Amino acid sequence: MDYFDVNLDLTEEDLALKAAAHQFAEEVMRPIAKELDDMTPEEVIADGSPFWTFMKKAYELGYHKVLIPEQFGGMGLNPRQIAIVMEELGWGSFGMAVQLAVASFCAATAAFLGNEELIKEFTIPFCECTDGSIRACWGGTEPDYGSDNLGMGEAFFANPDVRANCIARPDGDDWVISGQKSAWVSGGTIATHCQLHIQTDPSMGLAGYSIFLIPLDLPGVSKGKPLNKIGQRDLNQGELFFEDVRVPGKYRVVGPEIYETMEGGMMAQANAWMACWSTGLARAAFEEAMNYCKERVQGGAPLAEHYSIRQRVFELFMRVEACRAMTRAAMDLNMSLAPGFPEYSLAAKVLTTRYCLENASDAIQLLGGNGLTKEYLAEKLFRDARSTLIEDGSNEVLARYGGYILFGTYPRPRDTIPRIGG
Ligand SMILES: Cc1cc2nc3c(=O)[nH]c(=O)nc-3n(C[C@H](O)[C@H](O)[C@H](O)COP(=O)(O)OP(=O)(O)OC[C@H]3O[C@@H](n4cnc5c(N)ncnc54)[C@H](O)[C@@H]3O)c2cc1C
Repeated sequence: MDYFDVNLDLTEEDLALKAAAHQFAEEVMRPIAKELDDMTPEEVIADGSPFWTFMKKAYELGYHKVLIPEQFGGMGLNPRQIAIVMEELGWGSFGMAVQLAVASFCAATAAFLGNEELIKEFTIPFCECTDGSIRACWGGTEPDYGSDNLGMGEAFFANPDVRANCIARPDGDDWVISGQKSAWVSGGTIATHCQLHIQTDPSMGLAGYSIFLIPLDLPGVSKGKPLNKIGQRDLNQGELFFEDVRVPGKYRVVGPEIYETMEGGMMAQANAWMACWSTGLARAAFEEAMNYCKERVQGGAPLAEHYSIRQRVFELFMRVEACRAMTRAAMDLNMSLAPGFPEYSLAAKVLTTRYCLENASDAIQLLGGNGLTKEYLAEKLFRDARSTLIEDGSNEVLARYGGYILFGTYPRPRDTIPRIGG
């Protein structure tokens, strides 16, 4: 158990949530993540893979609906509690924690927007699902537009000459979608639904996007091969292809007039979640190092008895505490209907991902040769951590966006919210 979480504000309920999530992370996620890490991406999502055992158990316990309010059947957690649960899931396995969150995107967005028809179609069935059979993904980035899709405030973002790789055009009351999303759509190869961000007004360039919530069993939708990557191998990624896919107008929930506001709000929230999972990973690395140093004898004594080793392990502890404090502040500030302080989430994401990678790397160093082997968790943590610096926006591009907000050259989403509906 994580006895270092000495936040004096935690209630009995918070502590119970933390203990339950930790038990799930330790007993279900860790062993399954280890198995999946050694498999090919195709094997990970094949019938009979332990991945599906994980999904079923997570849904049975409600960890797929951490982000959804109680009134719609979600867990109904406050921002601090979401941070606590997400940290534990990140401790269990970063990739699987991401998988559970993206699975809830359509359900959570319908609830967030208060769209009753779509809440009935997307949110309620998802919250009632206990077998992992309803799973959304986020189709944002495109082959030619990775960072560019997060280019809010940049001149090129509104350049009408930019033609997206995926476009929806109106046709009567419907929309017809053509094109593809990037190979990086998390959970894309196994998704049943998608929160799709696509260009609907080419005259506005990348700012002329809309958000659709759609089922993926529509005629003309196909999926790519799962991507083979360095870490987070338990999180599959793949393209979504759309060939003249007709969707009813009701599935378009956000138009270009408020797209940037919504995208900014999403950045403020999603980056705070990234920080929660990164804190969990940083803590996992710290614990691996500390426990190993108590056991391994060199120089006639356990490593932990050497002065320099204690100093080195203390560095890892400091980073965990910095990650947690910053993450909880970002969650408290931004998990509201109108996130007001994206710079805190962006800073938390950049700092925690950097620190989780440093902790994983230092853990390997403290374990010596053993740290390089698959017998110990440290090398998986290192590979998982490496992806986080690019995931959900590269740290450099997120820092640029944060800087624009800091200097007031780009508005906070909260300040543009009154434009919604008007
Ligand atoms: C594990 C993982 C999960 C992901 N999940 C999803 C998902 O669920 N859905 C989804 O849609 N996408 C997802 N992504 C995609 C992710 O958002 C992109 O990878 C990320 O935004 C970076 O885009 P890119 O990979 O195309 O890199 P590029 O944009 O090509 O960037 C390459 C390098 O150039 C730098 N750079 C880029 N633009 C500029 C600029 N204007 N000025 C200076 N430097 C610049 C970047 O910092 C980076 O170092 C995921 C990615 C990863 C790694």
